[in-house]
Amino acid sequence: MMNSTTAIEQRNMRFARLAGALRKPFRLLLDVALPPLCPACRDPVGDAGGLCAGCWGKLGFITRPYCERLGIPFAYDPGPGILSMQAIADPPAYARARAVVRYDEVARALVHALKYGDRLDLAPTLGRWMASAGHELLAEADALVPVPLHWRRLWARRFNQSAALATAISQVSEVPVAASALKRVKATPQQVGLSRTERAHNVQGAFRVPPAARAEVAGRRLVLVDDVLTSGATLDACARALLARGAAQIDVLVFARVVDAVRAPI
Ligand SMILES: [Zn+2]
Repeated sequence: MMNSTTAIEQRNMRFARLAGALRKPFRLLLDVALPPLCPACRDPVGDAGGLCAGCWGKLGFITRPYCERLGIPFAYDPGPGILSMQAIADPPAYARARAVVRYDEVARALVHALKYGDRLDLAPTLGRWMASAGHELLAEADALVPVPLHWRRLWARRFNQSAALATAISQVSEVPVAASALKRVKATPQQVGLSRTERAHNVQGAFRVPPAARAEVAGRRLVLVDDVLTSGATLDACARALLARGAAQIDVLVFARVVDAVRAPI
């Protein structure tokens, strides 16, 4: 005779299997049974896709005063419209970059959860924050261009986190997504551990505007979308490829960026 514990376990297992199968379409219903977890530290939280109070407090939101070109915060307010030394000495191909947060511990956990942890449900939240941080860019934009993955990496990971973020930003801002405006024609090794110069060399010629997308690019103001800006080499290579096909202006909108201290010219 089957004891009651085993019967309950079996029922729970059946429920877990069913829950797995129904997770997407019945998300709201299941949230009652499966409490949502903080995507950064995995503590239970009230809202799906929301952060716990501790992690929220640790996010380093980027606000003005920052360099109008690079979007990197100044330690002191140098006055309106001032560019950083870095932007003047080594200007990127793109016109302006904006980021929601500094790429620190919590931001890294969120990006990893989105990218590798199958937490695509984070995209609407991150996208909403990005639309807010980049509202000036989006007000002038004709289309959003997600940074593409090489097909082999896309195949291995099954989705492109930049495309997911662009879709989420588009839903808030109503700026359309030009999903195939750029193609990654060179499978570049991971940029992790490379110097700034090595990163730039690594992505040189890695992106191209396919012939079918040229009309979507020429004369248009585009916002490149990515999850993280580290050295800026990848986004710079993307901007160069789009500008070479006659794009009118390229701006950059990311969720998180590495922030080194920048100085205003004195
Ligand atoms: Zn947390």
